[in-house]
Amino acid sequence: MISVSEALDLLFALARALEVEEVPISEANGRVLAQTLTAKRTQPPFPASAMDGYAVGGGQPKLGDRFRLVGESAAGHAWGGTLLPGECVRIFTGAPVPEGGDFVVIQEDTSRISTEVTISREPSPDDNIRRAGIDFEIGTPLLAPRRLRASEVALLAAMNHARVPVTRKPVVALISTGDELVMPGEAPLPDQIIASNTFGLKALLEDHGAIVRILPIAKDREASITQTLALAADADLIITIGGASVGDHDLVSAVTRGLGADQSFHKVAMRPGKPLMAGKIGNSMMIGLPGNPVSAMVCGHIFVVPVIKAMLGLPAAPATRLKAPLAAPVAANGPREHYMRANITPEGVVSKEDQDSSLLSVLAEANALLIRPVSDGARQAGEIVEYIPT
Ligand code: AMP
Ligand code: MG
Repeated sequence: MISVSEALDLLFALARALEVEEVPISEANGRVLAQTLTAKRTQPPFPASAMDGYAVGGGQPKLGDRFRLVGESAAGHAWGGTLLPGECVRIFTGAPVPEGGDFVVIQEDTSRISTEVTISREPSPDDNIRRAGIDFEIGTPLLAPRRLRASEVALLAAMNHARVPVTRKPVVALISTGDELVMPGEAPLPDQIIASNTFGLKALLEDHGAIVRILPIAKDREASITQTLALAADADLIITIGGASVGDHDLVSAVTRGLGADQSFHKVAMRPGKPLMAGKIGNSMMIGLPGNPVSAMVCGHIFVVPVIKAMLGLPAAPATRLKAPLAAPVAANGPREHYMRANITPEGVVSKEDQDSSLLSVLAEANALLIRPVSDGARQAGEIVEYIPT
């Protein structure tokens, strides 16, 4: 048996970062920035008022000072003149502060009769001016690679990038194998069940930036598996589910080897999800996952999501682990790394009572995988443990 991290290294060795494509900024959310971009302009490009009020010269005015109103500066409509001592301009949020202006008195601290503005309350020392370039200057970088969130999309737009270089989305083909499986919505025979793993994995991998195609369910016959694999030839990543252990009906390994796949089959020291296959078929990377629904989803989190990230040009790294105290004791762990279905609560981590790898209902109610290291001893409430949010 190999360790989880050895299995991950093996997968990373097969995963290559995909090409770069350009998308409009309006389509950039959730995409991975492939090249560092720098600001094409300085923001704000001019000293800008942070408030509605009056711009004056001569520093902070005092209670009772009077100014003659000589113009107005609104957002998008700068006042082009230079303020002289004793003069002010009406100014609005986001508007350029004119030459000679070095203080904005907020509206609430003034009174005005016709063109005479009087300071009616002692202004606070804040000049209410945003200096040019306080947000970013021409050339300020946004570093790649990174997955763009809404806030970074806004920043790139402000930097005047209409198009953004991103990594192409990996195309993933998902193949369920098994004579017992039918699609959701069909009427299963008494000895059949619904193929659920494909849909769970599709959702998980789409969440992380993949384009996922669900292929027809392959029967437990070599010809059927071969035929279905042929439909996946243009995918960047082919994932088979089930048929991956050593039972008489577990044919995926034999078929992929028959296709000339540079393919390796491993038992990984983890619970749930022991059998894992990794290899290449033609130009596609291939991962064979166990069929048990929870095993398939846990392997999705532990192995497939990191591979998708690597294909997107993000650093090759295991799933991010967080730390929290245990809310209740847990028993000693055996020789396999255990990913226990658990909940993060205000009191700490609570592992689920039933850890059977077929129970999707338990997985659905969990919001974390509590990680029990190989041969870890019993742990008491309050001890710090690692988990992966799900
Ligand atoms: P296998 O790895 O093919 O021996 O499958 C292990 C268990 O997972 C069996 O109980 C299968 O019926 C079940 N299984 C396999 N594939 C799926 C799937 N796509 N959806 C739900 N259950 C599955
Ligand atoms: Mg099967």
